[in-house]
Amino acid sequence: MKELIEKMQDSKIITYFNELLTNGQMFHSTIFSCNNQTQLENIVEEIIRMTICENHAIKNDGCALCCKFEKNNLLNLIRIGDGVNLIKKESVNELITSFSSSTFEQSSLKVYLIKNVENLTETAANAILKLLEEPPTGVFAFLLTNDRNQIISTIKSRCKTIMVEERVVDLDIDLELLDLIQNNKKNEALLYSENFKRKDKKEQIEILNQIYKKEILTNRQEVAEFFLDTILEIKRSSYTNLIIENFFIKIFEAPIWK
Ligand SMILES: [Zn+2]
Repeated sequence: MKELIEKMQDSKIITYFNELLTNGQMFHSTIFSCNNQTQLENIVEEIIRMTICENHAIKNDGCALCCKFEKNNLLNLIRIGDGVNLIKKESVNELITSFSSSTFEQSSLKVYLIKNVENLTETAANAILKLLEEPPTGVFAFLLTNDRNQIISTIKSRCKTIMVEERVVDLDIDLELLDLIQNNKKNEALLYSENFKRKDKKEQIEILNQIYKKEILTNRQEVAEFFLDTILEIKRSSYTNLIIENFFIKIFEAPIWK
């Protein structure tokens, strides 16, 4: 079977799976790949809830099954692995046993989540392979990974793969400024400061504030005060360009960085 891989953003993934579910075309086994473990777990938990939901609703619609999901009270949902430690064959066997037991109504869905697939030992991976090869009716697998290259090809070839596009966080911008300052990149900073001036006030304050909180306070008190003063000036002023120019001049000539 050819591998099916698609790269998508969170919101697109939700609508995509909503369509699959409402059209009865849901994949039996899906690998979700993303570097950001928190983002990965959040998006997959949401899709699992939608899968289990009586109406496959995009948002929790308060149906009995959504409520049980919220309370973590579903017998037909099994999660194995903690995203960090190795997953042994015993865990997979338990999963298989509980899915074949008669505690479930025949009609109800069964869902399992593995976080993360790369943590399966070789024997555990082989055990799960059987379940993937012949998925029983109504069983859906959600396999998480930070790096799909670490998953054995026999597992990959039996699953649809969704590459979850990592969300860009504001932190990247902050780190750029921090890098410029700490490594004394004056020329690049000039360009940065021009872009910085064009940002709205709220964003300017947010960037300075996050750097102040992240790095500077613990290291150099004078710099911390300089950041705080600048933030305050930007807050109070209706014309911030001069303040920003002043900030970029001072921050590079200041002996406090040496
Ligand atoms: Zn529901």
